[in-house]
Amino acid sequence: MSPMTSSLNPQFNQGTRSDEAQKGHKPYRGRFAPSPTGPLHLGSLATALGSWLDARAHDGAWLVRIEDVDTPRTVPGADQLILNQLIACGLEWDEEPAWQSQRFALYQKAVDQLIAKGLIYGCLCSRKQIEGALQEQGVSIAPNQELIYPGTCRERKLPIQNHAVRIRLPQDCQIGFTDQRLGNQTEDLNLQVGDFVLRRADGLITYQLAVVVDDHLQEITHIVRGEDLLSNTARQIHLQHSLGYQTPSYLHLPLVTNDAGEKLSKQTRATPIDISSSQSVRTALNNAANHLGLQTDPVGRSISDWLSQKTKEWRERHIV
Ligand code: GLU
Repeated sequence: MSPMTSSLNPQFNQGTRSDEAQKGHKPYRGRFAPSPTGPLHLGSLATALGSWLDARAHDGAWLVRIEDVDTPRTVPGADQLILNQLIACGLEWDEEPAWQSQRFALYQKAVDQLIAKGLIYGCLCSRKQIEGALQEQGVSIAPNQELIYPGTCRERKLPIQNHAVRIRLPQDCQIGFTDQRLGNQTEDLNLQVGDFVLRRADGLITYQLAVVVDDHLQEITHIVRGEDLLSNTARQIHLQHSLGYQTPSYLHLPLVTNDAGEKLSKQTRATPIDISSSQSVRTALNNAANHLGLQTDPVGRSISDWLSQKTKEWRERHIV
């Protein structure tokens, strides 16, 4: 499978970035937050490189956070493989990496805060029951489609313990934000998502909550990640508002797709980045740079020189 490498859109390439988070004069802090479901492939390397370059181009800090909160999907050893791949590619981090699996108490504290504000409720709906309720309302559902929660358990006053926990959205919940590449975005969370789950019935904290708590506690000012996560951003901003957190700046990078137009992932059997030789590392870095709309330079120079060159190019293209 040969990955396609569509470049960044011209609007972003010409780039006049107003970094909203920078207006508050907070020092730039970025992060790369891989889920350890397998080693890095070209798509995740491009995300890592894009966020690293953006941080370096702003003279900012770059953190790595292993998002192993969804423990059933976590592959043992994948975290170390990813860290080794980042090191081999010269993408070094500034603070000790964090593992979400060790931060449960922090997420629980946020749940408690939301309980105190009366913003969450217990829910016992299974996916099948939600599908049934939606079908009764005449909604047709495609397989694997994300379901808009119809609010079945909202007024049931179920206990929070031993049930899934959902956030209660306000009546008007239109969220707007500016993505640094894709421009103005709006989402009506009631129409497009419904009250969403923060903690599952088995006690697992969901990605939405964990990512918001961590980005806040780690004082992340700039989130640079793949475009597949764009549709999560409104939910995350709503959670930031509910918890009294600041909203960082967002930049969603284009996805690398395979010949069938699918996002590279473990499911689509993406090839892991080969770090067995310096030649293979440089090829991977150049492929990732090409995907980000940067020039590919002859391999052969030192990786740190190459990264400095790309940082300069990134700064000239995207930052004013
Ligand atoms: N862990 C997520 C992933 O690997 C990324 C989350 C984020 O960057 O917000 O897709």
